[in-house]
Amino acid sequence: MTAPLTNGSDGVPEIPSYLRPLRSVLLAVLDHRGRVADANQGFLALASAADNPPSGQDVRSLFINPRFGELLDKAESATDGEVFTGWMTLGNMDGESETWVGGVYRQGAHLVVACEREVEQDRQLQRQLLALTEDYADQERALVRANRTLSQRAEEIERLLRTDLLTSLPNRRHFDALLTTQIDAASRYGDPFSLLLVDLDDFKAINDTHGHLQGDEVLRCVAATLQATLRAPDVVARWGGEEFIVLVPNTDGDGAAVLAERLREAIAVMDSPAERLSVTASIGAAQWRPGESANELVGRADRALYRAKDDGRNRVVVDRRTNRSSS
Ligand code: GH3
Ligand code: MG
Ligand code: MG
Repeated sequence: MTAPLTNGSDGVPEIPSYLRPLRSVLLAVLDHRGRVADANQGFLALASAADNPPSGQDVRSLFINPRFGELLDKAESATDGEVFTGWMTLGNMDGESETWVGGVYRQGAHLVVACEREVEQDRQLQRQLLALTEDYADQERALVRANRTLSQRAEEIERLLRTDLLTSLPNRRHFDALLTTQIDAASRYGDPFSLLLVDLDDFKAINDTHGHLQGDEVLRCVAATLQATLRAPDVVARWGGEEFIVLVPNTDGDGAAVLAERLREAIAVMDSPAERLSVTASIGAAQWRPGESANELVGRADRALYRAKDDGRNRVVVDRRTNRSSS
């Protein structure tokens, strides 16, 4: 083959000026001791040499595969022309290795190195990186979905912990928390509120006569009736067995008496789940007194409820001691 480069006036191959600035192409003229006679920007960058023309830097160690010695051996047997073509692993001055593709040629007493970036390997790496990135994004999306499901389950568990399963009303545990919050707010802002305890009359007899399942149905019916009769800020919960409890914000004893009477009537006239089944309730009510604990307030409502039972059932008794007019 013909000499790859033209010789200069000193007989040394010369790199044409238009190839000197290229950085994705390596061009170097080396003597048999591995010293740089000439090199372009690409080769200088690899060898970390300064931008000025090479001054005999020994670059043998840059040749990892094939090694410089191997190239020299091959060059021995070659007259002018091709010494090696193919992939070359070259080390840079940072100790990293790079893959280049091209050839080494003998030209007189010099070796000419001419190669370019191995783009196929870069592309493969890019494809792998893209695949990994997509995989990562998939995993991240799966994680987000799993987290969402987990927090939905946690919310569901939270909701179940607050709910009475038979009636779907808030349970006692939840009501206790709401009552504590209400007492805190009332202590701070002084707004009145009242509490109602609703106990179904002779419920044992309903169970005994109509069966436990009908009894359950009555409890659901009463729960729905109470909810339908109350206003939005009021809270009704299942207190236990056949007892319900109602928290009535911004309402004093008089208001509680009116509301309790409305609830009592609503239960008395509701469509009961079985024929010849009449359901009534007795209700005890009390207005919260400043400084009073939840237990004290419930205790007063409970005692009012017992008076309603004693007085003949299906009636309302309000503990009036919190009424400003009578206190
Ligand atoms: P009173 O008018 O004095 O309140 O009489 P009562 O029969 O309602 O009161 P008692 O406390 O003697 O009986 C309550 C009954 O409520 C007994 C119990 O079996 C029944 N009960 C409690 N929880 C449930 C329930 O979840 N389902 C059904 N079907 N019955 C229940
Ligand atoms: Mg009871
Ligand atoms: Mg009862």
